[in-house]
Amino acid sequence: MEGTEHFEDGLLVVEHGRVQRIGPAAPLLATLPSGTPVTDHAGCLILPGFVDTHVHHAQTDVIASGGSTLLEWLERHTFPVERGFADPACARATSEFFLDELARNGTTTALVFGTVHRTSIDALFEAAAARNLRLVAGKAMMDRNCPEDLRDTPRSAYDESRALIERWHGNGRLGYAITPRFACTSSEAQLTLAGQLARERPDVMVQGHVAENVDEVAWARSLFPQARSYLDIYERYGLLRRSVYAHCIHLDDEDRRRMALAEAAVAFCPTSNLFLGSGLFDLAAADAASVQVSLATDVGAGTSFSMLRTMAEAYKVVRMTGQQLSAQRAFHLATMGGARALGLDDRIGSFLPGREADFVVLDPAATAIGARRGARARTLEERLFALMILGDDRNVRQTYIMGVPAIAGR
Ligand SMILES: [Zn+2]
Repeated sequence: MEGTEHFEDGLLVVEHGRVQRIGPAAPLLATLPSGTPVTDHAGCLILPGFVDTHVHHAQTDVIASGGSTLLEWLERHTFPVERGFADPACARATSEFFLDELARNGTTTALVFGTVHRTSIDALFEAAAARNLRLVAGKAMMDRNCPEDLRDTPRSAYDESRALIERWHGNGRLGYAITPRFACTSSEAQLTLAGQLARERPDVMVQGHVAENVDEVAWARSLFPQARSYLDIYERYGLLRRSVYAHCIHLDDEDRRRMALAEAAVAFCPTSNLFLGSGLFDLAAADAASVQVSLATDVGAGTSFSMLRTMAEAYKVVRMTGQQLSAQRAFHLATMGGARALGLDDRIGSFLPGREADFVVLDPAATAIGARRGARARTLEERLFALMILGDDRNVRQTYIMGVPAIAGR
């Protein structure tokens, strides 16, 4: 596996919030100046922090709302909760809870989907800035086929997104993503202006949803009959480059070829895809087309903030399509894969010298069954596999942001 390296008894040296060195503990310890503080995490695994490339902070309170498929789920559960984000106090309180939850699960960076309200992103970025997080987010654009009081207009979506970019993009560790919700809730005029903004700000990412559910695909095709495919709608409006698209289940080979050419990344959301019954993502087809793949929770349709739980479900989805997913690949997708999807692999996702010291300490023996199974594991792959299948937030001993512990009281 490209980039995977393991030290049985390793030391990660952090200085001024960045990785200085990594290697076997004994020789490295001998080189440290006397009095250097050392934290012992014996028995644990230290990994680059998890990167969740598709999650909705405003849907935190919708998690585990069942009984429907995508379009009905949006109407019944999601839109009513998203209305609350017009209120800055609601946006602030949920953002704080959401960021606590990311830390408790070892997630150090996320690509976050806001509501239509500018306040949803101002509140999230204010909270993330106070925690010194590397986070990318954007206000959803939606001007049709959704409740009246959740609509913006092509012009207001452009203006507010632009104002948010000017205020937040590149401010500390924060980044902005232009965020058309999905083709069905944006008019042609809105997608045109979103594409214009993407051209004017080539340094800013794009995020959206594509090809999640068969009814949604048919609806998108009927709204844009001139497009070759659902994905082609975004490409026509200049919204494919520097992008992360969630789901990508019902794509064809031409779509995958276009994504690879545009260096667009997939956010594979297994818990959400299973929960809503949307379908099974085809990892082998994405690999064959050289499409970048990352992993994401997609809370609130996703059922856990834990990237370990997400990896376990990804493994099962891949098995359902007759393929294999090794534990090392899954951990890579959840760390470096995400960093690469966000164009941040020169800053996070690995322990190369100079990288930002965002990392997670995982204790495989935190649960009784984890300890029992781990004791029988003979190889690194076997240990990682047991951890990903059995793991969750209980295995996260600590999460570090720029070298500083992020979970209080541990
Ligand atoms: Zn989503």
